Amino acid sequence: MTHLLTADKKDLARLVLDEIRRGRDVTKALRSHPLNGGGYLNKSMLVSIYNEMVAAGEINEDARLLERIRMKPMRTLSGVTTVTVLTKPYPCPGKCIFCPTDVRMPKSYLPDEPGAMRGLEHDFDPYAQVRSRIEQLQSVGHPTDKIELLILGGTWSSYRRDYQEWFVKRCFDAMNSPLTPAPLPLGDCEAVRRTGEGENVNLREAHSLNEATHHRNVGLVIETRPDEINSDEIRWLRHLGVTKVQMGAQSLDDHILEMNKRGHDVECTLRATALLRAAGFKIVLHWMPNLLGATPESDRKDFARLWKDFCPDEIKIYPNQLLANAELYEYWQRGEFKPYTTQELIDLIVDIKPTIPRYCRVNRVIRDIPSTNVVEGNRRTSLRQDVHDEMKRRGTHCECVRCREVRGKSVHAETLRLEDMVYPAGAAEEHFISYVTPDDKLAGFVRLSLPGEDSPATGMADLEGAALIREVHVYGQSLPVGAEKEGAAQHSGLGTRLLEKAESIAKANGFKRMAVISAIGTRGYYLERGFERGELYMTKDLN
Ligand code: SF4
Repeated sequence: MTHLLTADKKDLARLVLDEIRRGRDVTKALRSHPLNGGGYLNKSMLVSIYNEMVAAGEINEDARLLERIRMKPMRTLSGVTTVTVLTKPYPCPGKCIFCPTDVRMPKSYLPDEPGAMRGLEHDFDPYAQVRSRIEQLQSVGHPTDKIELLILGGTWSSYRRDYQEWFVKRCFDAMNSPLTPAPLPLGDCEAVRRTGEGENVNLREAHSLNEATHHRNVGLVIETRPDEINSDEIRWLRHLGVTKVQMGAQSLDDHILEMNKRGHDVECTLRATALLRAAGFKIVLHWMPNLLGATPESDRKDFARLWKDFCPDEIKIYPNQLLANAELYEYWQRGEFKPYTTQELIDLIVDIKPTIPRYCRVNRVIRDIPSTNVVEGNRRTSLRQDVHDEMKRRGTHCECVRCREVRGKSVHAETLRLEDMVYPAGAAEEHFISYVTPDDKLAGFVRLSLPGEDSPATGMADLEGAALIREVHVYGQSLPVGAEKEGAAQHSGLGTRLLEKAESIAKANGFKRMAVISAIGTRGYYLERGFERGELYMTKDLN
């Protein structure tokens, strides 16, 4: 997305940018140069001019300047930029009564749902979706060198595998395309073999190019059903480069699952979670209060079950919403289902949120569906804020990962405290090793998993007898590779120190090998830290 600025606006933007470079406050500089017809320039116009000037060699790249003129810095504060893409409309094997159907969309998505709209706009073309999102982020000054790719749409595993492979490859093609003005080193440019619009020959090639490209993939997420997870599927997911799996648990009560025609039982979710853990994946579970047959009280009990054996790394709380194009609508018409009121929902989430363990991140407490689609029940999409206001009033607080992330605040390495939270998760012993600030904010963490004797066999040679690093996450503004920012957690060596700690714990527990589920674009990081390329993981000998 490029701003088409008139010559007048360009001159004005240059003037404003010049003042900001000389230290003037951004808002004051913008306000002191109003546009002729009224109004002011905005930050994205400044970023557009900045990019033009850098590309023309008029000014050098200036990460600090860019940081000041960039819009919405929150989006990249967790260190990586998320790019969401949607797969094409396709049937899902599930028959869940709460799930909406729209022939224009993959199962469960609505055409006017933010985040899903771009898929429809681009006819679900993976390359176009990724490329347009990267361009859009760049035009407002976000770094796009570290990308977590989130693939949404029904049940990933139910798509044909040739489609899955093509889809992922095209996403990588888009990340490998040089959209930024900064040139690649010559050797990398020569390695880029393209046909047509940035197309590489196969997935392996697209992967290997991504190890040294402009937009490195630091995470690849898909969503699927628990009954699709088996040892063949996890091997396939690793072949694609997947690092994180989102699964609908929805409820941990067999009776509720059956009433809602979920098509699998709780035991199935447990098996899938254990297998994903044994294979080092990060696990995100979706949990739905207010399903048919549930009450606020039964939901409180159900939520508590999540922290025994399942122990997801992240959760999305998706309160069931009554939609006209879901089967549940007929139950409601017959008077067999009643959605909770907004207040009942707030009370429920306010009660359960403080019980969430420190190792888990709550990504959502409501699905972002435009309220016009909701037939009855809560229509507020700002529920997270309402919940936090009510928790403040009650004097309770949540210690989940998201609530403790250090975000853009400076951290001073010497003041950080090292915490090792140990918890059982099925047969595995999990260590959530973190660096915490004096006011209990999270500067970074590692998830170390020590498989037990009863952990499920994965059939993958890389993982034989290995302790697993499932995630390394260090917070701070996502800076372009090589740019420094004083006090930013990402650049003070915290990742290395956390890895060293994980290795020493693994050794102390008798493990002689370590394996990490590295995203494609982070392989270089692990190679520099003594890991070697395995078949599907990066591995290290601990002897
Ligand atoms: S499995 Fe997911 S996408 Fe499929 S019907 Fe159920 S809720 Fe919808």
